This record gives sequence, C-alpha cells and structure tokens, in this order.
Amino acid sequence: MKEKPTPQNILFNRREVLSSAMMTTAGIAALSLSTERPAVAAERDHPFHPLENFKYDLGASQGWSGKGGSAKQVNVDQFPISKSIAGVSMRLEPGAIRELHWHAIAAEWAYILEGNVRTTVISPDGQADDVYFSVGDVWYFPRGYGHALQCVGPKACHFLLGFDNGNFSEFGTFSITDWLAVTHPAIAARNLGISVTALAGFPKEEAYIVPGKLPPPVPSEPFRGGSVPTSQSVHKFRMAEVEPHRFPGGTERVVAAAQFPIQTTMSAVLMHLEVGALRELHWHPNADEWFYVAAGRCRVGLFGAHGRHVVDEFRPGQVGFVKQGFGHYIEQLGDEPTQLIILFNSPVYQEISLSKWLAGNPAQLIADNLGISQTLVDQMPKHWVGIFGPQK
Ligand code: MN
Ligand code: MN
Repeated sequence: MKEKPTPQNILFNRREVLSSAMMTTAGIAALSLSTERPAVAAERDHPFHPLENFKYDLGASQGWSGKGGSAKQVNVDQFPISKSIAGVSMRLEPGAIRELHWHAIAAEWAYILEGNVRTTVISPDGQADDVYFSVGDVWYFPRGYGHALQCVGPKACHFLLGFDNGNFSEFGTFSITDWLAVTHPAIAARNLGISVTALAGFPKEEAYIVPGKLPPPVPSEPFRGGSVPTSQSVHKFRMAEVEPHRFPGGTERVVAAAQFPIQTTMSAVLMHLEVGALRELHWHPNADEWFYVAAGRCRVGLFGAHGRHVVDEFRPGQVGFVKQGFGHYIEQLGDEPTQLIILFNSPVYQEISLSKWLAGNPAQLIADNLGISQTLVDQMPKHWVGIFGPQK
C-alpha cells in the first residue's frame, strides 16, 4: 500500500533526493544552482525559499564604463535574495570624479581596495568635509547626504560600495548635472548666480563619472607608530589599522556603530582566512549578511532549517548573501589566503558560533542530545574558536 504523504515523509523523501544527488559531482554542481535542484513539494508550502540563488558574480558583470572609470552594480534586479543590501564595485582613473550626488533611499558605506580617494560631503547642519582615504579605509555617508568622490592618484583606484537598501540603484541617484539639466534655465541661472547663456556650456544630461585634474598632494609625515589611527573625521574609519580579533586560522576586524558612531545602519567585518582555515558554523541573530570576496577563494555552506542546505564556491569579485539567522560556514580554498569584506544590515555586530554554543552547555546534555558518550563530548571545543586553523 502506498504511504499517505505527510509533511514529514515529504521532507524525508527530499532528504533522500539531496543525499543521493550529493553522491555525484554533477549533483553537487546542481545543488549550487537553485534552478537545477529537483522541485520539492514541501518547499512550495513554506513561506521562504532558503535555497534561492545566494551568489552573484559582480566582477564578471557588464556594468557601466566611461572615460573616467567604471561601475558594476548588484541590487535586487540582478540578485533578488539581497533585499536589504546593494553593492557597487567602482574604479576611477587618476583625477576622475564621481560627480556631486546623493542617494534618496540609502546610506553609503565604502571600503578602499586599491589606490587613494578623496571625498567631499555636506551634512544637513552645513558641516562640510574634504577627506582623503587609502587602502583599508572605510567611509559612511548617511542617507541623503550630498557627496562626491575623486581618485587622487598616483594610480587608478578601486573601491567597494555598500548600500543599506537592496532596491538602491547607482544608476538612479540624484546627480547635480542631471538636476541642473532638467531645471528651467531661468531658475537654474538665478540659483547659480550666472547668466542663462553661461548655462549653455553645462552638461545636457547626467555626467556621472568625469575626468578631472589631480588635486595637489596632501603633505603628510607618517606617525612614529605606524598603526596609530590618524583620522578624527566623522565619516572616516581606518578599518585596516584596527587591532583585529585573532583566531587560530585568521583574523576579523569589526566596524560597527560602537567603533564608528556615524555608521548607524550597517556594520562590517574584514575577514582574513589563512590557507586551510575554516570560519566555523555560525549565524547572525540580528542581521542579513552580504559578502564580497576581495582575494582568494572559499566555499560557503548555507543551512536553512528543515534539512535544507546549499553549498557553493566563491572567487574574487563574487558576492554572496545569507539571510538573517541562517546557519553558515566559510571554508578557505586554494593556495593563497582569502579575504572577505562582509556587510550586515544592523549597526550592531552579533554572531553565535557552534563552538561558543556547545561550550555554553553541560556535557551530559550535549551527550544525550547527540546520542554520544561524554568522552566524545570532551573532545569538542570548550571555548569560542571562530576561525579554525589548517587541519593537522
Ligand atoms: Mn554615492
Ligand atoms: Mn557570517
């Protein structure tokens, strides 16, 4: 007699499908693409779909490119799972300017990957800033603050931008040239204090990124202590210079509102994984996670409850997204260390790791839960590990 389907045996059957699929390499490849997974009845009734695609190849995307630089964007249009965070990989030639603009629906966070960048920013109280950034520095502009960026040379710059809204579009921001081009010439001329005829030389549409002249270099003499933070600027944080949390297999540098008070809607982690390292199983109780692989490779395993699990591999330029509360791990791959820039949509950074959790429970309870001996439980970590070193 055929067994009546129940949610339990549908789930069980699905687990069988998954485990048999895992037997083959092709099965593992299929698992990495949500579209290639076998359809499962139990999932259709579930309010969320944890196995929807969680990887986007930002580096390989087409993007925008012009005389002064280029920009590649990932938001919900390209990456539907990423509703809370959008990102842009931008490159500017020396002197080039990402023009005066603001973002109506998102705050902007940035991390400098290569080169030197200058920003100007205006806040509602009329305070202005003109600040230089170099590799490892972070900026944060609250939603709606007017700003501009310039590559100050001597070489081209590359930086990662993060926005606290997945609907954000870099190509739909509020730019000064766009605004002036659509405003009636009599009004624009009056506001600028120039003649209507002088307006004729202005851009006819949004300029976006334009070539510009290099500003004079800022004279600077390094401090005797190389890692002393020099910035007292409200929207600049020298992330690469902070003392990291050190773990057996790597480091984490955290920037949250506690370290950088203006950063009121996001937090971030700069994660360095040594060859062979494992960022252990963990979850974030309070935030979605958006990550960008800056160097090296890794494999990420994602757990979405009810036996649902997906694994995928990431290389430089690729972006991943983990929904709030979903379990995950990051396994370092390849012969060079792996570096990730990780954003969270909360100003407070929180995580719970498997080792932390197990250490915070009585041995007998763990033994009974897992159906194992206390001797075996004694071998398990008794404190938070965070990042495991290479296997001996
Ligand atoms: Mn911007
Ligand atoms: Mn995480």
